[in-house]
Amino acid sequence: MLNFSSQIYNKILNLAVNSNSVAHCRDYPFFAFNRQKLSFPEIQKYLQEKFKDSSLLYNLYIHFPFCRNRCTFCKYYSEILSKPQIIDDYLDALKEELKLYRTDFSNVKLTSLFIGGGTPTILSEKQIGRFFDVLHNFFWVNKRTQITIEGTPETIKKNLVRRFSEAGVTLLSIGVQSFNDNILRKINRTHSVKDVFRASNLIRNNGIKYFGIDLIIGLPGETFTSYQKTIARALELSPDFIECFLLTLGGDTKIKNRSKITNLDRVIRLFKNELSKEGYCLSWKGNFAMFFKQGINHEALNQHLAGIGSGRVISCLGFGARASSHFFNMAYRNTYGVNKYIQQNKKNHLPPIFYGQRLNNRDLKRKYIISQIGYYRQIDKNIYYNIFNSSIEKDFKEEINHLKQKKIVMEANSRLLWHLDEHEMGHNAFFLHALKYWYDPKYIHRLIKEYNI
Ligand code: SF4
Repeated sequence: MLNFSSQIYNKILNLAVNSNSVAHCRDYPFFAFNRQKLSFPEIQKYLQEKFKDSSLLYNLYIHFPFCRNRCTFCKYYSEILSKPQIIDDYLDALKEELKLYRTDFSNVKLTSLFIGGGTPTILSEKQIGRFFDVLHNFFWVNKRTQITIEGTPETIKKNLVRRFSEAGVTLLSIGVQSFNDNILRKINRTHSVKDVFRASNLIRNNGIKYFGIDLIIGLPGETFTSYQKTIARALELSPDFIECFLLTLGGDTKIKNRSKITNLDRVIRLFKNELSKEGYCLSWKGNFAMFFKQGINHEALNQHLAGIGSGRVISCLGFGARASSHFFNMAYRNTYGVNKYIQQNKKNHLPPIFYGQRLNNRDLKRKYIISQIGYYRQIDKNIYYNIFNSSIEKDFKEEINHLKQKKIVMEANSRLLWHLDEHEMGHNAFFLHALKYWYDPKYIHRLIKEYNI
């Protein structure tokens, strides 16, 4: 249990909110606050060594930061696609990035491959073909690898879906956001509700096994009644999973106010009750709720964090502009900006690593705990023991006792359960909780010093 004034915690929180980085609060140590540099040869050597062990499992993430336009609620890094040629240059740069590692990735067992963005479905059929050629040149993608791709409804075309299916894509997820055309126009989406139903049919009928949708909770204009309708319309599509993001304000987000619904907990509860009646299970995904049907590897959808597997620490390798990697005790992020990424890789043959750091064993334990609270609101003590070969109660005696006394944590069989209700799922509350109870005091001291708090 840390012993700082609440003023310090609030100052760190404000720093995170003002830099719009609080959305990444499930990273530990907090990625956005790290200015350390990891040298590329260090990473390269480490990967080369680790990949000799063919029993290890990995997730792979590839970022395509291109969109047709900018949605007003969006906080993710993407750039408006000015000409399709840029994607070809980006694919060349991606190939170059993989080559720069001079590592044999073919031994790597991929649990999942996540192609995210941006809007990866903006790629043409030919570009998708090129992308998968690049990928297969370096990695051995096995039939059991869950391959997920994200897209927008209006970019879904029959031939494109067929191309994905031939390439082994198992899950295609589209950003629906709202079932109200007026709201869609206001938030600058380039699709209509009709496009959603059309895309759903194409995905269902052209060889993709699983289909998912994203919705946003809190958009201006939405009401409790409109969410009742949203759930009914979502169920008409019968998706295999539904991700409900809580609208985050600040930073690059152009929307300034949430919907007038003051009680978002009530909305989340509505989703939970109605969707569970239809057989959906709930899994938290940090600050938002994911409802999924049996069969989906939902852990693979939480691709950004290491340490979330059932009883295993799964590493995630990220490629592309701003992609991040968590690889055992290394965490690093690629450079931002499509042009910079292309220049660095393709023209100058320089690795695109922006920053990163090594984590010690204590950091890894804290990182694991924070990800478990964020994703599952619980920790299985036996699993913790199996991973770290030590007991969580011994490692974090003070923290756990304190949380039990405050009735934030309770014990059930071999699990520690957190009493963070729906209201506590917002970025700020979650970050403050993690900061107060789970950050290393030495790391807090470093932040105080470095950021003059
Ligand atoms: S929400 Fe999706 S489509 Fe809209 S700007 Fe963000 S990444 Fe692009």
